[in-house]
Amino acid sequence: MNCDEVIRELSNFIDGELDAATKHEIESHFVECHECKLVVDQTKMTIKVFCDCEPVELPGDLRNRLHEGLRRKLREATQ
Ligand SMILES: [Zn+2]
Repeated sequence: MNCDEVIRELSNFIDGELDAATKHEIESHFVECHECKLVVDQTKMTIKVFCDCEPVELPGDLRNRLHEGLRRKLREATQ
């Protein structure tokens, strides 16, 4: 799995909506890719702030904007 695929699955990963195999692939990617690990940590923190630790479904709009931000961040990080 490359960075782009990881970012694409990131919201599912955070929501816990992935099957075990895909989840494992993403976790393996984090071991070798510090940038993606950083992105997921920051995203988790952002969601925690938004939701105050309650498991809340992300509204579609917020989810899209989050994705956009992540893609930008990743592009900057890998330049
Ligand atoms: Zn990566």
